[in-house]
Amino acid sequence: MIDDLPPLRDVIQRHGLSARKSLGQNFLLDLNLTAKIARAAGDLTGADVLEVGPGPGGLTRGLLAAGARKVVAVEKDARCLPALAEIAAAYPGRLDVIEGDALEVDIAQHLTPPIKIAANLPYNVGTALLTRWLDPPQWPPFWDSLTLMFQREVAERIVAKPGSKAYGRLSILAEWRSEARIVMDLPPQAFTPPPKVRSAVVHLVARPEPLYPANPRILRDVVAQAFQQRRKMMRASLKRYPDIETALVTAGIDPKARAETVDLERFCALARVLDGKG
Ligand code: SAM
Repeated sequence: MIDDLPPLRDVIQRHGLSARKSLGQNFLLDLNLTAKIARAAGDLTGADVLEVGPGPGGLTRGLLAAGARKVVAVEKDARCLPALAEIAAAYPGRLDVIEGDALEVDIAQHLTPPIKIAANLPYNVGTALLTRWLDPPQWPPFWDSLTLMFQREVAERIVAKPGSKAYGRLSILAEWRSEARIVMDLPPQAFTPPPKVRSAVVHLVARPEPLYPANPRILRDVVAQAFQQRRKMMRASLKRYPDIETALVTAGIDPKARAETVDLERFCALARVLDGKG
């Protein structure tokens, strides 16, 4: 038992929280499991935690029981608010619930550093939020670490290395600005209702500075162009850049190389060359 609150099955029944597919609702009802995810987020004592999509509150309870100073939870489904209010009452002053769309609410203003983000994200907004958190206007970002649930396949793309099928834009962005690893694997049966695919929790720790210098906008554009057709030669996929062949050679990249074999260090070198700083 992590707390004295009722089991999640009772909570869901009492508040009529039938899962809605349109909101990506696959709930975690095992509090031992949510406590384990909260532990994967590291030491939460003295930290504010941003949780996206608390639903009936399984992970929220895990985060509070693990000692988070405060949890700020953003939930789009108003049906979940009464269940979350019960948790807030059991942890006075430590849970703020914001009703809204995490893609629209400016959440940082509700939190005090140090800030960690932990979420069992709706699959349909997970990648959009991750990209936004990894690519904010300023670096370092407002958060220290992200502990997030993804479809296993997306988790593999985040931690992929050059030469692997999963390697791409997400892997490059994640490695550039964070240290990312898969910390937990979950079968479909861990969720109610079970999704069709396996899931995994990824833990990302923000680097104080990106791993190699590069202009974020140029790096983003080059990587996006290069991976549009990942099996094409770099000189072909980047042909809209002037004198790209020379730029590639200056950056130490074989113009005939394919994007999927080019590592982060070389992509950053190319971004610097294209920025006139090579
Ligand atoms: N965290 C809960 C758990 O682990 O059982 C629920 C996880 S469920 C996969 C995703 C949750 O995100 C749902 O409660 C859903 O209503 C909520 N949600 C979906 N889209 C959202 C959005 N754009 N902003 C905030 N919450 C959202």
